[in-house]
Amino acid sequence: MRKPVVGISLKIYMNKLEQTLGFINEIKMLSRDEQDVDLLVFPSMGTLREVGKILEDTSIKYGAQNIAFLSNGALTGEFSIESLIDMNGSIVELGHAERRKYFHETDEMINQKMKLAFENNLVPVLCIGEREEEKERVEEHLKYQIRMALKDISKTKLKELIIAYEPVWAIGKAQAASPEYVHSIHTVIRSILTAEYGSEVAESVRLIYGGSVSQNNTEEIIRNIDVDGVFVGRFGHDPKQFGNIIEQVRTVKR
Ligand code: PGA
Repeated sequence: MRKPVVGISLKIYMNKLEQTLGFINEIKMLSRDEQDVDLLVFPSMGTLREVGKILEDTSIKYGAQNIAFLSNGALTGEFSIESLIDMNGSIVELGHAERRKYFHETDEMINQKMKLAFENNLVPVLCIGEREEEKERVEEHLKYQIRMALKDISKTKLKELIIAYEPVWAIGKAQAASPEYVHSIHTVIRSILTAEYGSEVAESVRLIYGGSVSQNNTEEIIRNIDVDGVFVGRFGHDPKQFGNIIEQVRTVKR
């Protein structure tokens, strides 16, 4: 059985320490004794070290929203995996649609970052998803993104991977993709993984949905065997609502 996952990325919505630590402390309280759901937190980069200190003695995992494609060297302004390791972070988000769009992150760069993550025993959360105009050939598109991101990575490592399916057209919107759509695409992704890497990998990789997830749509979205959890954005900024999302995942997946 795959353990359900609830992740949250604060992007750069919450950047000041006081506000962030207030939020993190609330999450910490409401998820005390949480054993049924893996919780992942990706705070704004400038707050990561302090967030780490607060979460160190908990089972909540924390990590970076991005890393540079080299571990060190001449990459002005980038964030190194070495810093992440130094902060005892254990997860890293890679290939988010906003990274691809605004920072021109290519599939090759994402592959380099994936390799760095695996080499350093960090768990990558690989974000994939189609743009509106790619909907018609969504399967082909997702297969391409997966193949490129996982190129030359040993199958034995892939079992730890988490894939976040985030249709670009559903990010930052009022509504998420419909549950039916999410279910069908997750099944497609699972079958791509089976075809490419075998059933052992495909059955181990956790697939979570992201894109306007809220306490109002989580329950329906996760009612499918191939949906292992959700990746939350704006609608998790209220700790109470985020707590409700975790609770829905725990209950449905029990
Ligand atoms: P959103 O962000 O829930 O605010 O749409 C989701 C994401 O980008 O992962």
